[in-house]
Amino acid sequence: EYDLTRRLAVVTGGAAGIGRAISEVLAEAGATVVVVDRDEAAAMSLAERLEGQALPLDVTDAEAAEAAAADLVARHGAPDILVNNAGIVMNAPSLEVDLADWRRVLDVNLHGVFHTSRAFGRHMVAAGKGAVVNISSICGEVTVHPQPQAAYNAAKAGVNLLTKSLAVEWAGKVRVNAVAPGYTATELTLLGRSKPEWFNTWITGTPMGRLAEPREIALAVAFLASDAASYVTGIVLTVDGGYTA
Ligand code: NAD
Repeated sequence: EYDLTRRLAVVTGGAAGIGRAISEVLAEAGATVVVVDRDEAAAMSLAERLEGQALPLDVTDAEAAEAAAADLVARHGAPDILVNNAGIVMNAPSLEVDLADWRRVLDVNLHGVFHTSRAFGRHMVAAGKGAVVNISSICGEVTVHPQPQAAYNAAKAGVNLLTKSLAVEWAGKVRVNAVAPGYTATELTLLGRSKPEWFNTWITGTPMGRLAEPREIALAVAFLASDAASYVTGIVLTVDGGYTA
């Protein structure tokens, strides 16, 4: 049931970080992976290594997502698996946050998930099969002090209920679940806009005492994407080393 041979898997933000690990793990399980990313060069080099395909796309562009999905389906049929992983982080106190930044976080992390869910999902629903896995965050359930990230929290909470809504709408055809990672060692946490002192908060706040490796998140995604999860829909699977326990 864990085998993904002959499955077509689309992974957004699939060229780096958690998305790259997801692309790798799904390919190892036998799937043909379509690496969707706004970073075309990174998507192409990973797709070549995994013997999959690259699909350059910015998930904030709903029309481009529809066109890309229609084109993929015309060539290869409806995907079996869609992983909505593309996401960004911006931290700013709510009284100071630039509205353009607020909107950008919602646009990528929430609207982007809706755009690609709808674009690829319409073909999966029509085919009557498949699994969608959305990458949420523990930040969709709890705040993580002292980081001010209301936009990120609101977007990820939105992803959790979007997941449940689509699971109910598409029940019996397409399963829809989410994975909520805790702090994971990627560009986003290690290099991005994260302050060094926040690392200590994450590590001391995590009972397991370390960040997740991207592969540990990807393995949970592979489970939800596989037939091993055939009766699982509408859940948010937390993978956080005990952070929210
Ligand atoms: P990352 O920055 O390492 O990689 C993100 C990838 O998404 C990149 O390849 C980037 O080019 C792509 N991307 C970004 N915006 C895009 C867009 N508009 N269209 C298409 N592609 C786009 O990030 P990551 O740490 O791997 O995070 C991946 C997901 O996991 C995000 O949804 C993030 O919110 C979530 N997450 C991360 C952590 C963590 O600690 N790293 C924790 C919880 C949840």
